Amino acid sequence: MAFSVLETTILRAKGLTDEQLASLAAAGVEGRDGFKTIGDAATLAEVLPGLDPSVAAAVMAWAAGTGTPPGDGAPRSVVVDTADVLYCIHCKAKQPKDYKSGDLCPSCGKQAEPILSCFWCASSGPGKFCRQCGAEFVATGELDLAILLRRDGLPKDEIPKKLRGLGADEKDVLWGRVRKSRG
Ligand SMILES: [Zn+2]
Ligand SMILES: [Zn+2]
Repeated sequence: MAFSVLETTILRAKGLTDEQLASLAAAGVEGRDGFKTIGDAATLAEVLPGLDPSVAAAVMAWAAGTGTPPGDGAPRSVVVDTADVLYCIHCKAKQPKDYKSGDLCPSCGKQAEPILSCFWCASSGPGKFCRQCGAEFVATGELDLAILLRRDGLPKDEIPKKLRGLGADEKDVLWGRVRKSRG
C-alpha cells in the first residue's frame, strides 16, 4: 500500500480519484512524504496529467503541513491576557499596560474603573483597595452588608472575605438586618 487508509481518505477528500491515487502509487509516491519529494503543485500536475490545478494545490498544501504560509518560519508571539488587564466600564476599551488606578480611559476619556466607596472609612476611589485605609473594596451592591459587618466588629481584612463566602440565604438574613437598622 502506497498510502495508509487515512491518507487515502484525505487525498480522496482533496479531490483525487482512485485512478489518480493508483497512478501516484505506480509512479513511486508513497505516503505524505512522497508528496514532499514532488515538491509543488505544478510538478504534481506533471506526474498526474489532467489533474485539476486546485486539487493539486490542495493536496500539496496538505502534504506541506496545512496552514503554514510560505516563508513564515518566525515563531509566533502569543499574546496572553493577564489577570491584570482592565477594560473601561464605559466603552469596554482595553486599558494600556501601564494603566494605574484612577487613570482616564484613552478611548473615551472617562475614569476607566468604577469609583467604589470604602465600607471602612467611607472615602471613595478607583481600584481594588481603599487609598485611605487600605481596605479591600466590596461590590457597590454589598456595601451596606459590609458596613453592617463592620458594626458587628469584624476586622477590616475579614469583611470582604466573609462576604465572598456567604451564601444567598445568609446574605438575605443580613439584608434583613440592614433594612431594620434603616427603619
Ligand atoms: Zn472608555
Ligand atoms: Zn477606607
